[in-house]
Amino acid sequence: MNENPLAPLKNQILAGFSCHKSGNCCRAPGFVYVTAADISKMAAHLGLAEAAFREGYVRRHKGWEVIAAPDFRPNCFLDEENRCSVYEHRPVACRTYPHWPEIWASEEAVQEEVARCPGLKAAVAKLQKDKH
Ligand code: SF4
Repeated sequence: MNENPLAPLKNQILAGFSCHKSGNCCRAPGFVYVTAADISKMAAHLGLAEAAFREGYVRRHKGWEVIAAPDFRPNCFLDEENRCSVYEHRPVACRTYPHWPEIWASEEAVQEEVARCPGLKAAVAKLQKDKH
């Protein structure tokens, strides 16, 4: 837990962020929402018809389509080496992590994400070091 509030430092933290490829964000117990365009691109990447892709990899959740949920494909498309097997065509949600507004909406959420993500943790550490 960082002692000083991190949420107000959002822009500085994100400017220093780089992905450390831990796969922790992909394995977090949440939902990976997808659009029809995301499905189309991932299906083509895997050489599947969209119907077959939906059959194997998609579930509905509250009216949305998801490719991972806490009780459905919790490791999503991560392979044994922590790589996303649809990386070039990963959903918008994955491309925009960790810029999600909900991460930065509360100090509690930021602290939780920094504890999960080594890239964010390193960005915070660098910022704190530069200040001293
Ligand atoms: S689609 Fe790929 S990048 Fe997105 S959560 Fe799944 S494994 Fe991770």
